[in-house]
Amino acid sequence: MPSILHLDLDAFYASVEQLDDPGLRGRPVIVGGTSGRGVVCAASYEARRFGVRSAMPTVEARRRCPEGVFLPPRFERYGELSRAVFAVYRRYTPLVEPLSLDEAFLDVTGSRALHGEPEPIARKVKSEVREGTGLTVSAGVADCKMAAKIASDLGKPDGLVVVPPGTTAAFLTPLPVSRIWGVGKVTEQALRALGIGTIGELARFPEQVLAERFGTQGAHMRALARGDDPRPVVPDEEARSIGAEDTFERDLAGEDALLPQLLDQCVRVARRLREAALRGRVVTLKVKYADFEQLTRRSTLPRPTDDAREIYRSIREDLARAGLDRPVRLTGVTVSGFAAGEAEPDQMGLFGEDPAGRQGDDQARRAALNAAIDALADRFGEGAVKPATLAEREPGTLRARIRWPTRGGKDGTG
Ligand SMILES: [Mg+2]
Repeated sequence: MPSILHLDLDAFYASVEQLDDPGLRGRPVIVGGTSGRGVVCAASYEARRFGVRSAMPTVEARRRCPEGVFLPPRFERYGELSRAVFAVYRRYTPLVEPLSLDEAFLDVTGSRALHGEPEPIARKVKSEVREGTGLTVSAGVADCKMAAKIASDLGKPDGLVVVPPGTTAAFLTPLPVSRIWGVGKVTEQALRALGIGTIGELARFPEQVLAERFGTQGAHMRALARGDDPRPVVPDEEARSIGAEDTFERDLAGEDALLPQLLDQCVRVARRLREAALRGRVVTLKVKYADFEQLTRRSTLPRPTDDAREIYRSIREDLARAGLDRPVRLTGVTVSGFAAGEAEPDQMGLFGEDPAGRQGDDQARRAALNAAIDALADRFGEGAVKPATLAEREPGTLRARIRWPTRGGKDGTG
């Protein structure tokens, strides 16, 4: 039976602000976008008492909590503390799978001989994180990922919840189905229509009916509900995905309005990929409509890339497939599915895109151009260099022009 820990720092960004400025301790601190259309990234527990939640529009948060201290995020500082926290985790196992700056799975199955049972390991991790950084982290211990993640959440803040081996199904039974991974509002309502409210009810429901109603997702949900979650902890490269997203100052309608924004995001993502020496095959487009409904479209490329134009080509096709029908408030571009060591330049021609072998030349030219873009961006700041959209209509060229950033946005690894 594997022993898995899920560790989640409590109200991370807000806690860091309270850590660095003692005057903020005990006060409602809200970190997020402070512009008219900004969104809350994190709220301290004092702010949550006013009903402030992350992903809530800042305007709404101000209405609910007028005495709140509203601060813009300081991602560099959060990254610094995150690295210190992850260094503690790695003392106990090399099998650390980061989910974000403040969340990770640890597989400590093989750590017993050296560090003892999973529960004492969780206690030691919690106290070392507190001593080393001043932050509190909540821990869940279970024999599968999903149960460990739910357990850490149930104990927040500063929690430690242990699901003993063999009791996962019993632990899950009374919880609402919305706790299952992949069950969003729409699926939750569809399950409710079948009379399924709890995970236990889902676990006992006839598989056939679920399969007819939900296809393969039905069997998957039911397996998770029974505590059958064999997904391993995947120790990872530095990041699992690299993305950029922006909430627009005003809603945008139509592809013509959105494509320049998406190109901008592709350029930022590509630059970050190159900084991290990563290439990814999976490109994801995220669109949030003005009414907050959200859709994602995902494509897998024939080979991993760190090139803005290749990412943009995929995003443009995804956008066309998405069939937008309403104004949009936010878009995001993410690249994941990293493959270290693949896609050496001399292998590029093997993919047969250009029998005359010009593919390799094109790759080399683009690599040189990307290096130039990176050098300019280092000098003038990220966002300073953009390819002209015109280049997309002229295959084989990618022009750069200089433009000063006009808009803030949320970026990061996720
Ligand atoms: Mg957290």
